[in-house]
Amino acid sequence: MTERNYVTVNPCVMCQPMGSVLAFKGVENSMVLMHGSQGCSTYMRLHLAHHFREPVDIASSALSERGAVYGGSENLKKGLKNVIERYNPKVIGVATTCMAETIGDDVPSIIKEFREENGIGDDISKDVLIIPVSTPSYNGSHVNGYIKALDAIVRHMTKETQEKTPNGKVNIIPGEHLSPADIRELKQTVSDMVGPYTLLPDISDTFDAPILDELPKIACGGTAIPDIADMANSMASIGLGFSKNLPVEYLAETHGVPEHNVPMPIGLMNTDQFFEALSDISGCEVPDKYQNERGRLLDAMVDVHKYLYGVRAAVYGDPEKVIGLVTFMLELGMYPVLAVSSSKSLDFCRRMEAIIDEIKPDCRTTILDGVDFDTLNDAVRSVRPDILVGDSNGKYISQAENIPLLRIGLPIHDRVGAQRLLMVGYRGAMELIDRITNTILEAKELECVKPPLKMCSICEG
Ligand code: SF4
Repeated sequence: MTERNYVTVNPCVMCQPMGSVLAFKGVENSMVLMHGSQGCSTYMRLHLAHHFREPVDIASSALSERGAVYGGSENLKKGLKNVIERYNPKVIGVATTCMAETIGDDVPSIIKEFREENGIGDDISKDVLIIPVSTPSYNGSHVNGYIKALDAIVRHMTKETQEKTPNGKVNIIPGEHLSPADIRELKQTVSDMVGPYTLLPDISDTFDAPILDELPKIACGGTAIPDIADMANSMASIGLGFSKNLPVEYLAETHGVPEHNVPMPIGLMNTDQFFEALSDISGCEVPDKYQNERGRLLDAMVDVHKYLYGVRAAVYGDPEKVIGLVTFMLELGMYPVLAVSSSKSLDFCRRMEAIIDEIKPDCRTTILDGVDFDTLNDAVRSVRPDILVGDSNGKYISQAENIPLLRIGLPIHDRVGAQRLLMVGYRGAMELIDRITNTILEAKELECVKPPLKMCSICEG
């Protein structure tokens, strides 16, 4: 697409260990230690604190030139000791950064030595669990780091040989990061439809905490450790998104937990599929509460049809969210002219084409996978959308091209309320409709949508 694609210019993704932070912060009483230079953890703390508007502690082994030459074992052990003494966590996620991976530190062996030297066992009921995750950023993005960390957590806490004691629960594992508001919505829905469940990672409180008289060292909330250990006994797992969901696969292959993979419940059709999966598992009908929400969503779709029909949209971000948003836009009669997965994804292009063929085969969409902002900028210039949909980092394209930007995704650091943005379920779809439509209407008022929006023949009449 770009004529200058010999190098990445302004990556459209965050680095891989950032994904592991998003996963570990959804586990009760956990801390993350970055094995690498201090700058890595500072960048991540800053990014997440601006997005969630919460204090975010991330420890660092503070590797310097000496560690880079002689190995980082000493630093990592000191770091682990400090974290245990100061935070007293139940879980420490050790994520490697580019430098630790490049010098070739054998992190699992260092952790094993540390545990032996300090008499730390591996009993999840009493010992601090130290879980390594290999996350070199030159080998993947935050999307990979997130799912790798979840996989490591589930593998570490469920014993391969444990006897099966069915617990009647359902496991919910989103394949990509969702907002605290989304997680709350999923929890309520699964509880109403199935009853007992375990959702991993639960960031609904850890990244959106109520104010307290005294700030806890580790944010309250998160998925409880015994619940994670019990995921092997659940009656089913639902993975949200079709990207390779490693923990869902592991639970199926090792513990025989039946797996259901459905798209992220964004928009009408995808949310219907989520409810169908819950119905299949529980054998229950969809309650009136959700039937009514669905009805209100259909009503809202009819209401905004005259504003959104034919509106040309460019969507970029994490692959499953882009697929969900583009599907919903097609349902709304919009014209998604550009769909961009910022992270490299095995089957993004194929799945995107299949969805467009199914819903609106005449839609000519440029589909790009694993590109940087430079390439995205060129593509936006060429397709001239009416609206851009993606994270805050797209604002420079928005300003340069005079195209309104609807902020969805991570990071959103130049607006408030990212933690409260709801996107999933029927209620999330209604919020999306309002946000998309109001962005278009405001842009029209400011006359920055050019050419004027295309109306369908009925509206024009
Ligand atoms: S890309 Fe690598 S060096 Fe840069 S912040 Fe991420 S982990 Fe650290």
